[in-house]
Amino acid sequence: MIVGIDLGTTNSLIGVYDGGFVTLIADQGGRRLTPSVVHYPEEGEPLVGRAAERMRVLRPERTVFSVKRYMGRRIGEESPDMPYGLAGERGAPVQIDLGDRTVSPEEVSAEILRKLKADAERALGCAVDKAVVTVPAYFNDAQRTATKRAGELAGLEVVRIVNEPTAAALAYGLERMSENTRIAVYDFGGGTFDVSILELTGGVFQVLSTNGNTRLGGDNIDASLVRHLEEECGFVVTDPAARARLLEAAIEAKHRLSDAEETVVNLPFLESVSSSEFVLTRAMLEQIALPWVEKTRAHCLRALADANMEPSALDELILVGGSTRMPLVRRVAGEVFGRIPNCTRNPDEAVAEGAALQAAILEGTLTQVVLLDITPLSLGIETFGGLMNIILPRNSTIPCKAGEMFTNALPGQRAMLIRVLQGERELANDNWELGRFEIPFQPLPKGQARVGVQFEIDANGILSVLARDTATGLEQVVSMTSAVEVSDEAVEKMLGDALENAFEDMNARVFTEARLKAEEMLPSVAKALAMAGDRLSDQERARIMGCEAEVRDKLAGGAAQPLKKAVAALDEATQGLAALVMEMAMNPPPKGE
Ligand code: AMP
Repeated sequence: MIVGIDLGTTNSLIGVYDGGFVTLIADQGGRRLTPSVVHYPEEGEPLVGRAAERMRVLRPERTVFSVKRYMGRRIGEESPDMPYGLAGERGAPVQIDLGDRTVSPEEVSAEILRKLKADAERALGCAVDKAVVTVPAYFNDAQRTATKRAGELAGLEVVRIVNEPTAAALAYGLERMSENTRIAVYDFGGGTFDVSILELTGGVFQVLSTNGNTRLGGDNIDASLVRHLEEECGFVVTDPAARARLLEAAIEAKHRLSDAEETVVNLPFLESVSSSEFVLTRAMLEQIALPWVEKTRAHCLRALADANMEPSALDELILVGGSTRMPLVRRVAGEVFGRIPNCTRNPDEAVAEGAALQAAILEGTLTQVVLLDITPLSLGIETFGGLMNIILPRNSTIPCKAGEMFTNALPGQRAMLIRVLQGERELANDNWELGRFEIPFQPLPKGQARVGVQFEIDANGILSVLARDTATGLEQVVSMTSAVEVSDEAVEKMLGDALENAFEDMNARVFTEARLKAEEMLPSVAKALAMAGDRLSDQERARIMGCEAEVRDKLAGGAAQPLKKAVAALDEATQGLAALVMEMAMNPPPKGE
């Protein structure tokens, strides 16, 4: 069984698809939203979720929240003010400083995932060890890898990372809409705001653009509301515990005002003043929240501009994130995109629901939809020496395109064989060949021809490989059958083999690279030695020839590192010779000397 997880900045959820619908799993307290908060006591197991949330006021320096902001990040890239400290040199991966020890963001996230996993196992009565986990569309490779690693630490194999807006669109059933549906996903949560424009083509969601602000969310509204309440009371609350109660009262009132027009806020015995009561109307809250909500407008307009789209070209506007329960937020979002938002799903739960649906698709329980939005294995071509040269790495979001320039390895070569390969192994022959073709080019000295090779995968997973001789403009395009339709077992076997042979493979690559370098160097060193004649001291010549002999010996030996070292030593030893030969070429001796 594969579960779906929304690992959020503020809250996290876990769900599973069973018997035709998604069930989001509640914890022992009956709640489906688990606060993404971890408290580390001096001794004993960390507390996660609501229990940790309670410790946020009492032990802020040992209670980690919003850790998602630090996933895959390095010190100095982003350091918002948090009550807990960060550790590490500038440029090093972020570590969270708990005073007596440090933890990595992955470890903190792993605690949250471990709790979700345990809740699911209790509810389902079986082991849960595979998950689909969602991440923001703008997460880079390091942030995605860190998320996967958090899963591994929690004993979960992350079978797929899915973009949050894609998951939300899936929850809304938008994959069943007609082709070329364009969707805006407006995600206003507790701490962050994200907007994404997606397009559905050929059963695949493509993220056309994303924009947002990692410092904009319901938390800002809460802080402004707290300030307003303090003004009403006529004093500033400084005691942390009293502040926590005030904040809690403000948040509860804000939530009630999403349904009610007015509400009473009870502030019990703050700062030893007798308890007070205020009436707060929705209009007042909206006035307080408006400056924050208005800030989302510019991000939406930028996302539309980046996607090169007018609001009228959109087919759907969906709202995600707890703060979109506020009528004001719905109004502003609707206004920006010029349409009534689709609010038929629960905004806190849509992403987790989508993750569970994606899990069911991967499991094979849900078969009507195909949502193949990544390349399951790397794609590349064979280069000189029989090595795999990756052009599109595994897990690239499709549709995608990438290219690289290659040159001729032999002088006067008239054509280059393009062997299109799929797989994770270092040696070309260990990967699968998807096809091959030849691109002719004008004969030129070694290393001077320029052949551009471009890989493109369309929304249907069809790979087109284009090769072009830049000198003549002559090109060949070959389409390969679906590059994404690989059975899960085959992918698993390839990954397993790659892992199992990682050491040998890497050795083979290093050896081949060193061999190619050696084969290039030996003849040119011999030539240079002959040219230098007696201008090279006997001692220098002997040293170079010793290094040469060493390279030949190691070439025969077949071990990678010794050969690499011998080649490096020869390179080093011939620096003076190279300079001498260069100088001789520039200043030829006068005739007759
Ligand atoms: P999320 O990050 O998606 O879990 O959203 C959390 C944010 O949504 C917090 O700022 C909550 O205060 C806010 N939120 C949750 N429910 C409501 C509601 N009924 N009305 C207004 N805001 C809400």
